[in-house]
Amino acid sequence: MAEKKSVQEKKFETRFKRRGKRRCRICGTSKGLIRKYGMNICRRCFREKAEELGFKKYS
Ligand SMILES: [Zn+2]
Repeated sequence: MAEKKSVQEKKFETRFKRRGKRRCRICGTSKGLIRKYGMNICRRCFREKAEELGFKKYS
């Protein structure tokens, strides 16, 4: 069981390293990242930057 877990972690690590660290370039979080258009920002920052970037909010 423990071995399996470590293997999974290793896989995850290599995969993560291979693809580079994906973090929000504004606040640094890796949660809720939006990689659309290569923005690499998280949802929260996206909402703040959306209007700046020309995205309109549809209600
Ligand atoms: Zn952010």
